[in-house]
Amino acid sequence: MPPDPQVVNFERRRVKYAWIYVNYKLEVKVVIPLRFKEADIAAFIRAKSPWVQKKLDHFRKLQTTAPAPASNELVHFDKIVAANFDTSDPSALEKWYRAEAKKHFAQRVAELASYHGFTYNRISIRSAKTRWGSCSAKKNLSFNWRLMKAPEYVVDYLILHELAHTVVLNHSRRFWQLVAKVCPRYEEAKAWLKKNGPML
Ligand SMILES: [Zn+2]
Repeated sequence: MPPDPQVVNFERRRVKYAWIYVNYKLEVKVVIPLRFKEADIAAFIRAKSPWVQKKLDHFRKLQTTAPAPASNELVHFDKIVAANFDTSDPSALEKWYRAEAKKHFAQRVAELASYHGFTYNRISIRSAKTRWGSCSAKKNLSFNWRLMKAPEYVVDYLILHELAHTVVLNHSRRFWQLVAKVCPRYEEAKAWLKKNGPML
């Protein structure tokens, strides 16, 4: 039985520390170590409650400002555009985004790479919820199809970020200096992703 009406997911698990997670769907998840007593759980949730409220407010505000497409519309590059299929069908929607991402990344990565003198191998489209892109040691790049909903300058930043990894594989000072050189709006793009990424 959840100790708090807002907690939609409550779990006792073999974990070291208790933790609370709030997502953009306004779901609160609590994971409690096996050794915790009822009183400890209540105290933990009480202690974390201001943080949970702050997160919930943050996501509520984001939901009211995020574009809300109808079932014959979708979000493309941060704008609502007309679609010729039922976009309330999640699998049809993902199929459309994947196809669009495949086309867009193939073309735009080639453009930006040749302009800045980067080389790369293969491009693949992924769907990991927490990762926007990656670059392997073999210079294979991957990008998340959800990025097709983000503004174009944010997508360009992600491409340039991964292309910069073909030269510097880590996130050192040298890496960020390279990113700044090829992508002057990188800080703005990073801030956009941090704020709006969970909604994509
Ligand atoms: Zn990186």
